[in-house]
Amino acid sequence: MLRRKKKPELSITIDPIPSCNWYINLRKYLPIYIWKDIRKEVLEYFNYKCAVCGSTLKVECHEEWNISDRFRVQTLVGFILLCKRCHELKHWFRTVNEEKKGKISTKYYNSLIQHFLDVNEVDILVFHEHVEDSKRKVYIRKKYNYILSWGKFCPVKIEERWKKVQREKDPKQFLVVR
Ligand SMILES: [Zn+2]
Repeated sequence: MLRRKKKPELSITIDPIPSCNWYINLRKYLPIYIWKDIRKEVLEYFNYKCAVCGSTLKVECHEEWNISDRFRVQTLVGFILLCKRCHELKHWFRTVNEEKKGKISTKYYNSLIQHFLDVNEVDILVFHEHVEDSKRKVYIRKKYNYILSWGKFCPVKIEERWKKVQREKDPKQFLVVR
């Protein structure tokens, strides 16, 4: 009997975020000084290293979302630290647009694909398949409106918690990670 080869587990994947919620992020809803504290906390928690490939070059905070297609709700579940290359792979469709507009060079664009292959230890076919799978998900999700939920990261509550931390000057009280 012919059996399809099992898809490999990928360390770095593309986030198929519903297009109605593209460009929305928590940072925009918080005062900059609170966002800076959250960023610092994420940096320290991940020891200034990319959570996927371990690189320490240009690390950035990435929001992780849980997407329910059944209920059409997109919920913020946490943050991870990613290096610039892993981050640009996560937001692949934005990266593709940037290459088209000439904002990033083709050489750099190709180096991102190579990074995907190296980190996941897969060949180029797996990359193309993963891009097609993600595209399909985004295409299906495009037809609907997904409600955005901040989950336990509601900006108003974070601001309250931040003020409490300031008042009590207790470094053990973390804002988001733990
Ligand atoms: Zn990385």
